[in-house]
Amino acid sequence: MGMSTKASSEATFTRRGILAAGAALAGVAASAGVASAAEATSSAKDGAASAATDGKAYDAVIVGSGLSGVSTGVRLLEQGVGRVLIVTKADFGAGCNSRVAGGQFLFPMEDTDAGVQAMVDSFNKKSKGKGRADLTQLVCANSKAANDWLVSHGCSFTDPNQVKPYDVLAVSAAPGGGKGMPALMDQMCSEYQNAGGEVLANAKLLDLVMDESGAVSGVKVRTADGVRTIAARHVVIATGGYLANKAIMEIACGADGDEIMVRGDKTLTGDGLLAVERAGGMRYCMGGIEQSLHIAPVPPDMPALCPFASAMYTVVVNAAGERFVDEGLGYVAIGKGAYNQPGQTHAMIFDAATVNEVKVMKDDLDKFNNFGIPVAQADTIEDLAAQINVDPATLAKTIDDFNAATDGEKTTGLAIEKTACARPVSTAPFYAFYPMVPGGTQCFGGLYTDGDCRALEADGTVIANLFVVGEAIGGLFAYDYIGGGSLTRCVTSGMHVADVIAQA
Ligand SMILES: Cc1cc2nc3c(=O)[nH]c(=O)nc-3n(C[C@H](O)[C@H](O)[C@H](O)COP(=O)(O)OP(=O)(O)OC[C@H]3O[C@@H](n4cnc5c(N)ncnc54)[C@H](O)[C@@H]3O)c2cc1C
Repeated sequence: MGMSTKASSEATFTRRGILAAGAALAGVAASAGVASAAEATSSAKDGAASAATDGKAYDAVIVGSGLSGVSTGVRLLEQGVGRVLIVTKADFGAGCNSRVAGGQFLFPMEDTDAGVQAMVDSFNKKSKGKGRADLTQLVCANSKAANDWLVSHGCSFTDPNQVKPYDVLAVSAAPGGGKGMPALMDQMCSEYQNAGGEVLANAKLLDLVMDESGAVSGVKVRTADGVRTIAARHVVIATGGYLANKAIMEIACGADGDEIMVRGDKTLTGDGLLAVERAGGMRYCMGGIEQSLHIAPVPPDMPALCPFASAMYTVVVNAAGERFVDEGLGYVAIGKGAYNQPGQTHAMIFDAATVNEVKVMKDDLDKFNNFGIPVAQADTIEDLAAQINVDPATLAKTIDDFNAATDGEKTTGLAIEKTACARPVSTAPFYAFYPMVPGGTQCFGGLYTDGDCRALEADGTVIANLFVVGEAIGGLFAYDYIGGGSLTRCVTSGMHVADVIAQA
């Protein structure tokens, strides 16, 4: 892809409009550039005022305090970049999906070029070759160093395990079991503040500020005290995804996109994406639910709970009691398949033999019980049908047909085959995780960047001084991803952008 730093005339026009609006509101001259006043900031979680009012621009303003934003900040300070400010919409280190994430990170099976290549190949397999090659390489090649770096900053992890059948190792933020991210986030936030990083919390990015050359020169934010303009030599967008923005979800995913449950933080509305677009940038890889979203089947009462390991061992039916998806493809395929079903509601059915013989099935059943999420249970399929609100005769036929078609591994002769883990549903008691709905976990679409995570206009022109990190980057993943890839992306992209800024 060819790139230039010369802005197109249309983009220049747009940028001047933004500059004028920002300058009028903030009361600064339209030609302010990077040397206008840096505004009051806070180093306290509640956003209480402290001072950085010496009139100098920040070396870097990072928007967002999830893992990508905080990693960028810690690395910048470590590299000697002196004045760094994180502006964030909620409290510092909160209001983000990094805090509620399961905590899985990835790196290669062996720390060699061949190991990195095997990880790249694994990412490509999941993304059907549609993921950005340069970003995939960046993430995979730096993933081990990123994990070591987190450890050097006081974070701890469980022992590595292979993510079968892929050539990738996974670790989880300690203590594991989905419980490690709050501690990891607190640790990295402390590292940032202890190194002298400043924070302006409860401040919402409204727009980017540009100078007359078309380069980004700051941000306009809204705080409880009003709108402020903050000057910066570099701006890093770390605002996460857009799952809670119903308008974007409808456009990206289709008419029912607005109905997809938001699993994580409900305030992540793609603000950074929209601000960069207004500055001439482009959203990228938003091609329908298949390519632009990672969703998972979850109980509506507990969107954090996904039976992701056992889903493929179940038989999944819609509100009519009929199968609609090859469950053997796993939980993301089930979530995406359910998107087009009536009400998006579905049931995941399994039997006592599967609970007894498949460890992950028993583990997930225990998880539901431990969290107090009711699981339907009955001695006959007809009685189970009554509990999951489907017609008993239809469900009995669906299960009979399935049992007749399976050899225990895969089915043959069904309109929708099950290609793996096709265990019969024949030993009472019978169970169902119900109701289940697709819950949005992560956006694969996002902002268009180059391989160094610089924001680009549609024609490949670099928007000077503007970077994107973490989930806000579009196009690294498509269709599906290996769990852990996103947190790994947050740290690798944050470290890389910090290194690029430090060398500027
Ligand atoms: C339930 C769940 C489990 C997951 N588990 C895993 C996992 O195990 N492994 C994995 O790799 N991925 C996982 N993911 C995905 C992963 O958590 C996210 O992709 C990742 O945390 C995104 O990090 P981020 O720093 O890019 O954004 P976030 O962590 O979402 O942070 C965004 C930040 O931007 C701020 N912000 C937004 N708009 C503005 C604005 N206008 N002005 C100022 N600030 C703003 C927010 O307040 C927030 O601080 C999971 C997601 C969910 C929902």
